[in-house]
Amino acid sequence: MKFGRTALMRRSWLASLWLLASVAQAQDVADIPDAVRENVELLIQGGLDDTVGYAFVRDLTTEVGPRLAGSEAEERARSWSTQELAELGFQNIRVEPFPIPYWSRRVDRASIVSPAPQDMVITALGGSTSTPPGGVEAEVIRFENMNELRAASSDVVSNKIVFIDEKMTRTQDGSGYGMAVRKRRNCALTTSQKGGAACLIRSVGTQQRRFAHTGMMFRSAVVGDGPAAAVSPPDADQLTRLLEKGPVKVRLEVEVETQPEAPSGNVIAEVVGRERPEEIVLIGCHLDSWDLGTGAVDDGAGCGIVVGAAQLIMSLDEAPRRTVRVVLYGAEEVGLLGGYAYAERHADEMDNHILAAESDFGADKIWRFETRFGEGALPYARAIQRMLEPLGISPSHNLASGGPDISMLPRLGVPVVTPRQNGWDYFDLHHTPDDTFDKIDRDKLNQNIAAYAAFAYLAAEMDWDFRKLTP
Ligand SMILES: [Zn+2]
Repeated sequence: MKFGRTALMRRSWLASLWLLASVAQAQDVADIPDAVRENVELLIQGGLDDTVGYAFVRDLTTEVGPRLAGSEAEERARSWSTQELAELGFQNIRVEPFPIPYWSRRVDRASIVSPAPQDMVITALGGSTSTPPGGVEAEVIRFENMNELRAASSDVVSNKIVFIDEKMTRTQDGSGYGMAVRKRRNCALTTSQKGGAACLIRSVGTQQRRFAHTGMMFRSAVVGDGPAAAVSPPDADQLTRLLEKGPVKVRLEVEVETQPEAPSGNVIAEVVGRERPEEIVLIGCHLDSWDLGTGAVDDGAGCGIVVGAAQLIMSLDEAPRRTVRVVLYGAEEVGLLGGYAYAERHADEMDNHILAAESDFGADKIWRFETRFGEGALPYARAIQRMLEPLGISPSHNLASGGPDISMLPRLGVPVVTPRQNGWDYFDLHHTPDDTFDKIDRDKLNQNIAAYAAFAYLAAEMDWDFRKLTP
């Protein structure tokens, strides 16, 4: 098709007008009254100076320690938290209990038997079965990744100890995890289907020190797929070097305890809304941790962040219009069981859940603010994002997932946000004995508290409907 010069010019002029108009519309920012704006500024300053959130994670990880899902320690974490939340002045404090299958390690060790005998640093994966007493001893067969194992014939895998040596990529947004975690989830099952004796994986993590990263296998805790363990990165390197020289024999010994049913629960506390208390702005974290460290970064920090933020909102002259609900989820690490229990128990109230967020990505600073709102609610996203800019947080996309325990809420129609933390170092510590309180930087934690206080307050005070589809 051909156009005359004038027609073309008119077209491009019209096109730029249209573009200008749509850009202006796309950047509509909702108004925030001065009084609300002043409160947000107070909250941000209060967050940066906060001491409550940092003390919460310090004392949780010190006075309770590791908090394995379904254990006596997780139960202690629930009573410890309810007492702390009461002392801080929260309302409607309660535990919503639910049963979970229980798994814990008793023994997990491995060594190279030949050609150069030496111990390896390993950790059993959550859901691993026990080996026969005394362990399994077998020749090792190495695979680059999960796909290579899948493609291997049963003949080559049968009676061997499978070793998947895939490394994880370090990224700021943690996207390397999704790829790397596949071997943790599927190795034992695929190995046992092919008649292998046990499965070892290079730890799902980004550090190069001599400790191993645990984590859940794909199946539920009581239905084990076989013995499986993660190897520390230096031990994975050692194993690989030896395998380049010839056959290597390894002994793996795992002994686990399982129970079909153990108690877990979600701890809930609220700042009750002054006008529409039934409308909920949910900010969450998970209270359980793996057993190796004290679960400071995963996820004591997240609990410090949401408790710190809600307590600041509570300290304002008057409560916001809507309720701010803090949920400390139980049993996240073993399959988001607290998240599912909450969604089920509160299924009838989902329409009243105005917004949800979960902090579960460590203690580093938030660098961008992701939303998952109706298209018509984007001016609210921009208004929040502008208020967060002084904290060094940039606007982001509208495809947020919200966080593990609230990942099922968008499907139920609940708008979510992900205040995205810098995850560059997160997988150095994740699920290791090195996840301890000393790794938390108070200034970085406080930047999170300031941001959570600001957006949760805005969502609870303003009349915004984040589900809104059209302007
Ligand atoms: Zn976590």
